[in-house]
Amino acid sequence: MNKNSSNIMALAPNTSNKRETVCIFGTGDFGRALGHKMIQSGYPVVYGSRSTQISNLIPKDAEVLSHAEAAQKAAIIIIAIQRQHYNFLTPLAEILHGKVLVDISNNLKLNQYPESNAEYLAQLLPGSKVVKAFNTVSAWALQSGTLDASRQVFVCGDDVEAKQMVMNIVRALGLTPVDKGSLLAAQEIENYPLQLFPMWKFPMFLSLGLTAFFFFYCLALDVIYTYIYENNNFSFFIAFTIPNRVCPVMALILLALVYLPGIFAAIIQLYRGTKYRRFPNWLDKWMLCRKQLGLIGLAFASLHAVFTLASPLRAFVSWRTGKGIIAQALNNKTEPLNTTTAWISDSYLALGILGFFLFVLLGITSLPSVSNNVNWREFRFVQSKLGYLALILCTAHTLVYGGKWFLSPSAYKWYLPNIYMLSLVVPCAVLVVKFVLIFPCVDKPLTRIRQGWERNPKYSE
Ligand code: NAP
Repeated sequence: MNKNSSNIMALAPNTSNKRETVCIFGTGDFGRALGHKMIQSGYPVVYGSRSTQISNLIPKDAEVLSHAEAAQKAAIIIIAIQRQHYNFLTPLAEILHGKVLVDISNNLKLNQYPESNAEYLAQLLPGSKVVKAFNTVSAWALQSGTLDASRQVFVCGDDVEAKQMVMNIVRALGLTPVDKGSLLAAQEIENYPLQLFPMWKFPMFLSLGLTAFFFFYCLALDVIYTYIYENNNFSFFIAFTIPNRVCPVMALILLALVYLPGIFAAIIQLYRGTKYRRFPNWLDKWMLCRKQLGLIGLAFASLHAVFTLASPLRAFVSWRTGKGIIAQALNNKTEPLNTTTAWISDSYLALGILGFFLFVLLGITSLPSVSNNVNWREFRFVQSKLGYLALILCTAHTLVYGGKWFLSPSAYKWYLPNIYMLSLVVPCAVLVVKFVLIFPCVDKPLTRIRQGWERNPKYSE
């Protein structure tokens, strides 16, 4: 038996004899980090290793024994070893019979094996009670104490008592166990650490694609066209003017794309006369990432607000204002205030501010800490009613601002519409169809369908 001498002290030394000994197989990164945390929480820890040599990396007070010796000392054994080495456990089947084996392993690829590692372990050792846990917590986070991003520990297993024992350890370590059910859930839990923002992929790619498209569209019309046909070098527009055109356009389109799948869903349900048939896959996926689309839209809207506030600081704006003042001074004539222009500019600013305020409110209520504190009706009121109001205000903001270009022939450079006209296509389509959908003759059948009524019921009573 070897005792290690590294200087990790138990934070709860008096409770150590009250806690049951835990055995950890494997003295690698994760085994050491978990053992360290357990000793701090007052658990006696015994390691099962291929080598019982002393190593000063192993936590103080932990014993290091052979696998067979260590397993005999504890009812719970944490297998901190890669799946491909699990075969070495088969000769230990008798010693491990009736023990709780905690599988903490992860894979390198999604669905790497036909069955989960935990199920594989259960097949190798049918007499043991296998529980899946801790795989979403990293060794680094355990060791450094920075567990904020991974405080939840997903636990699953077929033996309820064994699962409870593991969940008690999770709680004792200051983490939050989340019961995911039977061992069938292990595959899903093993896939979690391999996923990289799965719900954000489509919204991110779409936003990047649209941003690039609108950026080059503005570059062609505002910089290249003016250079070729008007001999003006406005290349500096690339830094400020074009981003401040693209951001509001993206914010408006993404906000409309949050509500567009709901419109498609309503049309499909009306057409089919039932809600009991699945939507096409693409629509299901789109509906699931509406929050992400909205949050990216909010980021664009916030950037637009900051760009707009910083606009008076620009050299180009001071030059243009100065030019206007000098022209009036040279002509010795003060231009009277154009109240129509004043009305238009005040209106689009007010509409933009109100729309942005509601957009921020939608973003705040989509945060789990806020949405968990409102009931379903309140959540729907904000996300649906106030969301549509935000879309109306933002669309009106763009219409009032960009409207002056719609009828002007000079706006159609290379016969292409202005970017503001393009940005209004999706929001206007959403609002027009939504307006039709709230007509009683359409809304009533739709509400009935959503309450379970079917036009051609498959199973009649
Ligand atoms: P590691 O540093 O490579 O350690 C693995 C340990 O397994 C070795 O130290 C060794 O311990 C033992 N081992 C290696 N080959 C063996 C064999 N042929 N037979 C028996 N035992 C063998 O790996 P790790 O990072 O600690 O990861 C261990 C497990 O935890 C993996 O399944 C991993 O997916 C999972 N995990 C790791 C992390 C992390 O952040 N590292 C996070 C979550 C889950 P002895 O020398 O003492 O025998």
